Amino acid sequence: MKNARLGQAIKSIINFILPPVCPVCNHPVDETNMLCAHCFRKLTFITRPYCQKCGKPFEFDIKGDNICASCLKQEPLYHSARSIFVYDEGSKRLILPFKHADRTDLTGILCQFLLKDYYKLIINADVIIPVPLYITRLFFRRYNQAALLAHRLAKITHRKYEPNILKRTRATASQGHMNSKQRKQNVHKAFEIANPKNIIKKKVLLIDDVITTGATVNECTKTLLKAGAESVDVLTLCRVKH
Ligand SMILES: [Zn+2]
Ligand SMILES: [Zn+2]
Repeated sequence: MKNARLGQAIKSIINFILPPVCPVCNHPVDETNMLCAHCFRKLTFITRPYCQKCGKPFEFDIKGDNICASCLKQEPLYHSARSIFVYDEGSKRLILPFKHADRTDLTGILCQFLLKDYYKLIINADVIIPVPLYITRLFFRRYNQAALLAHRLAKITHRKYEPNILKRTRATASQGHMNSKQRKQNVHKAFEIANPKNIIKKKVLLIDDVITTGATVNECTKTLLKAGAESVDVLTLCRVKH
């Protein structure tokens, strides 16, 4: 109790000296790691109804098994994929600085969103693995944003974090303007497993920042399952709406 009061007092002093601000627009907020109302309202959260397999939001409620047409046509290998926001102007204000502008301080607030909506999915995993960057891209970007998220989530939920099992075997072309088929070809056999023993018969949670067609996470899943993983779920911050 005494410690709690002391902690609160220290927090008040810090807040007085360094008042918390919104990490996107620097507007004053009540607590650290909190968006201001303006930036929060700009986010488009993905809510039900969505495809039970790939997480794609439906425009209207569908009765029955709630699987989208593309998953029915070709079922993804992963067990499920889920995302927090639609990748739009609102979420880009958070994601792009996190990904490209060294704003690694955003890891905390982004993990809060993931934990709030998908705590059960995270806690159910035996192992948390980030989608890897190829070594040259990692060198220029200096950090892997997916690894920052995966590491933080694993630490908070006491899951095993394995950043070195899944590797990219080659540099893949940027997929910005590719269609679904081209993306599939682009990532075909682009991953390998370095040390399979820590994923054999394990439930894997694969973390990435953005999912578009799902070609990358599906190829990662194929590689993980082939190496003996029991199942793979995918969790990303954003989903590109087609
Ligand atoms: Zn703001
Ligand atoms: Zn689907």
